[in-house]
Amino acid sequence: MTVKDILETLEWGPAPESDKFAREWLENHGPDFGMYINGAWVKPKSGDNFETHNPATGELLGTISQAGKPEVDAAVAAARAALPGWSSSPGHVRARYLYAIARQVQKHHRLLAVIETLDNGKPVRETRDADVPLVARHFYHHAGWAQLFDETFPGYGPVGVCGQVIPWNFPLLMLAWKIAPALAAGNTVVLKPAEFTSISALAFAAICDSIGLPPGVVNIVTGDGLTGACITEHEDIDKVAFTGSTEVGRIIRKATAGTGKGLTLELGGKSPFIVFEDADIDSAIEGLVNAIWFNQGQVCCAGSRLLVQESISEVFHEKLRSRMSKLRVGNPMDKAVDMGAIVDESQRKIIADLCQLGCDEGGAMWQPDTEMPDTGCFFPPTLFTNVSPSSTIVQEEIFGPVLVALTFRTHKEAIALANNTRYGLAGSVWSQDIDTALEVARSIRAGAIWVNCTNQFDANAGFGGYRESGFGREGGREGMFAYMRPVSKLTETSTSSKISTNSTPSASGAESIDRTAKMYISGKQKRPDGGYTLDINGPNGLVGEVGRGNRKDIRDAVEAACGATKWANVNAHSRAQVLYYIAENLEQRGAEYAARLSSMTGCSDEDATNEVADSVAEWFRWAAWCDKYDGAVHETTMHGLVLAVNEALGVAGVTCPNQRPLHGFTRLVAPLLAMGNTVIAIPSESHPLSATDLYQVLETSDLPGGVLNIVTGIHSEFVGDLAAHDGVDSMWVGAGDIAEVQIASVTNMKRVWKADTGASDAEILRQATHVKNIWLPHGL
Ligand code: NAD
Ligand code: MN
Repeated sequence: MTVKDILETLEWGPAPESDKFAREWLENHGPDFGMYINGAWVKPKSGDNFETHNPATGELLGTISQAGKPEVDAAVAAARAALPGWSSSPGHVRARYLYAIARQVQKHHRLLAVIETLDNGKPVRETRDADVPLVARHFYHHAGWAQLFDETFPGYGPVGVCGQVIPWNFPLLMLAWKIAPALAAGNTVVLKPAEFTSISALAFAAICDSIGLPPGVVNIVTGDGLTGACITEHEDIDKVAFTGSTEVGRIIRKATAGTGKGLTLELGGKSPFIVFEDADIDSAIEGLVNAIWFNQGQVCCAGSRLLVQESISEVFHEKLRSRMSKLRVGNPMDKAVDMGAIVDESQRKIIADLCQLGCDEGGAMWQPDTEMPDTGCFFPPTLFTNVSPSSTIVQEEIFGPVLVALTFRTHKEAIALANNTRYGLAGSVWSQDIDTALEVARSIRAGAIWVNCTNQFDANAGFGGYRESGFGREGGREGMFAYMRPVSKLTETSTSSKISTNSTPSASGAESIDRTAKMYISGKQKRPDGGYTLDINGPNGLVGEVGRGNRKDIRDAVEAACGATKWANVNAHSRAQVLYYIAENLEQRGAEYAARLSSMTGCSDEDATNEVADSVAEWFRWAAWCDKYDGAVHETTMHGLVLAVNEALGVAGVTCPNQRPLHGFTRLVAPLLAMGNTVIAIPSESHPLSATDLYQVLETSDLPGGVLNIVTGIHSEFVGDLAAHDGVDSMWVGAGDIAEVQIASVTNMKRVWKADTGASDAEILRQATHVKNIWLPHGL
């Protein structure tokens, strides 16, 4: 046998990582683990606990405390008490603590990696090379935001006490994503790890303790979903951050609705992995292995839907099968293993059941005859072909090592298939053609797009979803906003908002009484579906009438807005031109509008004139912003460019306030239009006529039909329908009860903002957009 023969036949031998340090640590801190509350280790009064296992072996690692309401109360009280001191400590001081945490994470790199692997079952190669380095990077990076906080985020402060609930798939990394930005911005936290994987969070608490972090700034409580609910429903928590299943996300969305708590949700995904015929096929195969078999596919942004161009699909699937046959499944402590254990038997069963369902629905399941461990909780790499876009396993997140494969012919079809999902977390595009790559990247509705790469993460690039994948970003400048709130209002205060009842209405207001009241839908005036009208009275009697909108009017308006979303692709300069034009047309009829305002609201002529002038200025302001709300190029650890693009939310519904009705309408509607959204605007309930008067202005400006739709009437009769509509991506509540809107919109978990006409331009712009990060690695 020659050396060449040996090399060709050589199999990987086992390369086990030592678990010595980790065992010692478990012995010293366990086997019966407490929790970290107010800088001390405590056990629950109830004495309740549960076991945590190594899923690769079934071995018992220890028992974890089950926190109840008393422990959560204590943790929240500790965080509350620590808040004034922590939030008022200089950014530099917070930076030093975050920096110290980062250093300790690096120092205990190996211990943390092994603990994570023992408790979760993921390969130690991943915890060592991905999870833990990213954790350290996250704390280093956010030490920087703490240091630069005052200069970078003027007008913003911390939200307060944050309740954070995280999943088991990246236990320590998800903790870092939550705690680092929270502390950087001056918040204090109560965090609960997932019940399958609590140990690394406790090791983290030990690190916080060792660096002398002030008591109460970080509190770690352990327990199951009941403990989670104690946190997310706690009345003294200011903000909830959750990562996990869409199901629980929905529960939390409902529980927090109307409580005034801040909320960010990072939920599931069914992210497309799109391969064009001009892709570098071998790289795409390697990328795909990472996309769906990294962490056994238990990744929210996993590239779980393969879309391959038909011309290469046979070759591609063939190469894929042969690559799958080479994946090694086994003991995650073995550094030569590609796939470790599934986190728990319950999760393995979910995966197996979904695969069975896939077969029952006619899918063709293929698994390589990979050698599988005899014991422990493992699942082989799995490929499904012969599925259709509507198959359950193509629509539902499996959260396991299961890939579903579809094909497409044209670019257009690829984009349509990619977006045929209620999720929008990530996407991966493979093509050597720059036009294809960038056009498709821009067209996928998701928060992170990887061009010729996949699963790229960095502390300086925001990660988070569109649509039912949730809202809010983690990482980077955009992620900091999840842990801040405006503390001062930067815009002009209203000239006058007093409604005086003794001023004389002007004559021209009354002239319009006989106008037939209509809605404005799809660029046309349309009679209200129900045929009813409402009288609009001013202080001196009837001023006019408006249509009384109903759910059908809302449906029509949403349909029109959904059909007009090309507005987002109209270039910023052209959008600005339209907004300037509206301003000009409004100004020309200024006297008429002022008269209308005073007859409707009873304000003085001077106030009315000022309000019209302010509204004209408002249209100018947002026209100006159209091409000036730039994105960013993030500096990350990847060689290449990461473009953070501010994109339109899509279809936005907005309820407008009664106060200064014309200005309020303009201050909310104009920025949404400026950023490329299409809008269903519900004007002031009591003073809607200045909005309906706008129909003529809109008709003479070049606003495309459907971009702005206006439905008048009694808000409570249809705003719930608007909030519940799946076609609406976001709601701005400028009038009425935000709780109702939040509850009604639980179905598709749209982003809801308590729209404030006094908010700064910067805050309004942020609320009118979401950030997509496009990763463009390059190299020769
Ligand atoms: P889960 O959503 O049930 O649990 C996530 C966290 O929420 C855990 O810490 C859990 O204790 C807590 N929790 C559960 N019920 C709660 C409640 N009512 N109120 C507050 N907190 C609550 O997720 P899971 O059971 O660990 O996994 C189930 C499915 O979730 C998986 O199959 C997968 O599809 C999905 N998942 C997604 C992600 C992600 O990153 N997007 C991560 C893990 C799991
Ligand atoms: Mn475990």
